[in-house]
Amino acid sequence: MIHIVVPVYAQNLELLIGQSLDAKSAGATMVELRLDLCAQMGADCAALVAGISSLLLPVMATNRSKDEGGKWSGSDSDRLQLLLDADAAGAVFIDVELAHISALAARPTQAKLILSYHDFNGMGANLNTIVTHMYAAGADIAKIAVTATDAGDLSTIEMLYHDFSEHELVAIAMGEEGLPSRLLAGAWGAAFTFATVNDQSSAPGQPTVEDLVDMYNIQFQGPETRIFGVIGEPISHSLSPLIHNSGFQALKIDAVYVPFLVHDPKDFWQRCGNWIDGLSITIPHKHELADELNEIEDIALPIGAINTIYRNVDGTVGANTDACAALYCIQECTGTLEGLRCMILGAGGVSRGMAYALHQAGAIVCIANRTLERAQQLADEIGCQHVTLDDASNVRFDVLINGTSVGMNSDISPWPKECLTDQHVVFDTVYTPLETKLLQDAQHAGCTCICGLSMFLRQAYEQFERWTNTPAPEGAMRRLVLESLGVDPYAFVRSAKTTTACWNKG
Ligand code: NAP
Repeated sequence: MIHIVVPVYAQNLELLIGQSLDAKSAGATMVELRLDLCAQMGADCAALVAGISSLLLPVMATNRSKDEGGKWSGSDSDRLQLLLDADAAGAVFIDVELAHISALAARPTQAKLILSYHDFNGMGANLNTIVTHMYAAGADIAKIAVTATDAGDLSTIEMLYHDFSEHELVAIAMGEEGLPSRLLAGAWGAAFTFATVNDQSSAPGQPTVEDLVDMYNIQFQGPETRIFGVIGEPISHSLSPLIHNSGFQALKIDAVYVPFLVHDPKDFWQRCGNWIDGLSITIPHKHELADELNEIEDIALPIGAINTIYRNVDGTVGANTDACAALYCIQECTGTLEGLRCMILGAGGVSRGMAYALHQAGAIVCIANRTLERAQQLADEIGCQHVTLDDASNVRFDVLINGTSVGMNSDISPWPKECLTDQHVVFDTVYTPLETKLLQDAQHAGCTCICGLSMFLRQAYEQFERWTNTPAPEGAMRRLVLESLGVDPYAFVRSAKTTTACWNKG
C-alpha cells in the first residue's frame, strides 16, 4: 500500500517526536526527516539521527543542499554522511539526489535508496532517460519532482508511471497545477506521496493528510480506479471534489475526483483525456471543449456551454447539467413548466442555459438584463420577450430567477422586495451566501424559495449519474457539502415547498 509521508523538522528530538505523533494521528504512515531544515533551525543533527527509532513512524531521511532546493550549508561529505548514519540508525529510506550519488561514500546497508531529480522551474528534460539512469545507478526507488505550469503537464507524469510500471517510482508535479499528481498517486502506483499536517510542508503544493485519506481515499486507489475531475481557473475553492468523492465512497465505487487547475483546456484534454473518465467544467472553460467531443446532448447544443464530459459506447459526450438542474428545481416547486411565466434576471452563461431549457420545456420566458443588448440578443435567439431591469417589475411572472451575480458575497438584492408576493416562486442561483438578500426578502413576502445550493447539488447528482449509470447517493453527497458550509443538514429540508431557503427555520 502507498505510504503517506509527512515532512518533519525541528530544533530537537522532543519536538520531532511531537510532530511524528501528529502525523501518525492524522493517518500518515511515514515521516520524512528533513535534516537540512533541522540544521537551519540550529538542531544537533547527529542527536536527531541517533533518535530516529523513537519517531513513532518509519523514517525517510533527507538532507538537501542548496543547489537541490534544500538548506544545508555545511560540507557535502558531512551532509551525505548524516544520511548513512540515518541508515545505520534505522531509517527505512534515504533520499539522495542523482547528481550526488557518486559522492556517497557507501551504499545504505538497511534503508532503501531513493535517487531523486528536482526541477523547481519546469518539467525537466528527458525524464525517461533520467529515471533509467537512476535504476542503473542502484536506486530502489526513482523520485522525480518537477514543476507543472499547466495541468496538461500531468500527462508527462502519467506517462512515467506507465513506462516504469515494473519499478518503484514516485513522480510529482509541484505547484497547484501539479496537485493531482499527488492526489492520484495511489491510482498511478506511486511508492509514496507527501502530505502535510499543521501546514508544515517541504515542497510547494502538498495536500493535507486528512484530505488524502478522507477525501481522495488514497490508500484504496489502485490501477483500476476510475479518474474524474473538475477543470477551471481558479479551482481551489471548488466544492465538487468533496461532493463527488463522498458519492463514490458512499456507493463503494472505485473512483476518485480531483481538481485540475487548467489554463489551456484544449491542450489539457488532448494530452490527458485518455486517462480521464469524466470531467466537470467550470468558469471560464465551459465554451472551449465542444469541438473535442464526439457528441453533445440536445439541450447543451443551443446553449453552447458544456459543464460535463462523460463517456458512452460511442465516445465522449458533452452535457449541460446546470440547465437540467435548474429545470428540476423549478419543476419540483411548481409541478409543471408548461405555460409557467419565468422572469430571468441576467443574460450571462447561467441565464442563457436556463432560458433555453425553460423555453424548450414550454415556459414563457422573459429576460431582463443590465446590458439591454445582451438581453435582446438572447431573447431573439430563443424567441422570447426581453425588458430592461427597470421595467421588469411591471411584467407579470410566476417564477423570478436571479441569474446575475448580484447578491454574491453581498447583502444586495437584484429585485425590489415590494414587488414580491406569496404567489411567487423565487429562485436565486447565487449560493454564497446560502441565504441571499433576495431570498430573505422572498421569505418575508411568503414566496416559495429555491436556493442556489439546491441547483448546485442537483447539477452534481446529474453528473454523477452520467458517469456511473447509478442513482446518486443524494443524502451522502448533500450532507458533506452542507457540513463543509457549516449548515445543519437536518435543517436543510427537502420538500416541494422547502427545496430551498428553509434551513434557517429548521
Ligand atoms: P456571467 O456569464 O458573468 O453573467 C453575469 C450576469 O450578471 C450578466 O447578466 C451581468 O449583466 C449580470 N450582472 C453582473 N453584475 C451586475 C450588476 N451589478 N447589476 C446587474 N447585473 C449584473 O456569469 P454566470 O456564469 O452566468 O453566473 C452568474 C451567477 O450564477 C454566478 O454569480 C453564480 O453565483 C451563479 N451560479 C450558480 C450555479 C449553481 O449551481 N447554483 C452555477 C453557476 C453559477 P451584464 O450582461 O450587464 O454584464
